[in-house]
Amino acid sequence: ETGVQRWHLLHALDHAKGELQERVYWVEQLHQALQGDAFELMVQPIVRLRDRSVRHYEVLVRMRDPSGELLLPGRFIPFAEHSGQIVQLDRWVLRAALKVLRRVQSQGIGLAVNLSGQSLHDDGLTTFLADELRASGADPEHLILEITETAAVTDFSTARGVLEGIRALGCQTALDDFGVGFSSFHYLGQLPVDYIKIDGSFIRSLPHNEDSRIIVRAIADIAAGFGKAAIAEFVDQEVLVPMLRDYGIAYGQGYHLGRPVPVEEAFGPA
Ligand code: C2E
Ligand code: CA
Ligand code: CA
Ligand code: CA
Repeated sequence: ETGVQRWHLLHALDHAKGELQERVYWVEQLHQALQGDAFELMVQPIVRLRDRSVRHYEVLVRMRDPSGELLLPGRFIPFAEHSGQIVQLDRWVLRAALKVLRRVQSQGIGLAVNLSGQSLHDDGLTTFLADELRASGADPEHLILEITETAAVTDFSTARGVLEGIRALGCQTALDDFGVGFSSFHYLGQLPVDYIKIDGSFIRSLPHNEDSRIIVRAIADIAAGFGKAAIAEFVDQEVLVPMLRDYGIAYGQGYHLGRPVPVEEAFGPA
């Protein structure tokens, strides 16, 4: 064994140890956040393109770290998914969102909440949702649950069952990040969803990419054919609005139409 090999081995061990420590750190942070109040909800408007009215807001979670910094989900959700804590996180967000919904539904405002792929395997999810709806007094008709297309396609029958359960409670459903998985065209007619959200990567590139135009137009036609409303993500400039309207896409969401803001900023103090 040479000194160089030994150095590499020690380096690899060190790296593995670092990763493990990071995971342990996040399990603990997430655990504390789930007990306490380190998660915060932002909301971003979903805009009806015809008249720019807002019927729904999507709920987007943030995490306050010990130093006070507000972290984007990209920083902590991968760890929550790895540890399985994402299922509790989804429940936490759902419960907090229903409290907000109870407060804003009388103004005709609805909320859209994200569910992770793992929450599709949370056996108690629909019971939890039913209980929380009852306890909060939130109106199920003003709640949309978003599940990602990849999760729905990877485990089609589970996804269908969960979506049916959600709908049986009177809530609506949306298929998120649509178009990335592609195989979804085949399934779309069989999934009980009310909305499909066209993945932002296609929308952002619309003005300068002919392929994206073809894809977005095709998705819009397929959605309409199956009787689902389409929502375009990442509408970050005005030129997109007339294009999307031309394609028959009813709703848009993105920085140009409204950035995510804290709940109190959108709806006033609790
Ligand atoms: P998503 O569900 O696809 O949400 C849309 C993401 O795009 C949000 O990022 C939003 O802030 C961002 N966005 C909105 N408009 C624009 C735009 O015009 N341009 C660009 N570049 N981005 C835009 P965010 O809040 O960082 O969330 C990232 C992802 O984290 C979400 O993607 C969702 O998959 C996940 N996530 C967020 N909140 C939750 C939650 O409560 N539960 C679960 N399971 N996942 C969540
Ligand atoms: Ca979403
Ligand atoms: Ca997306
Ligand atoms: Ca997503």
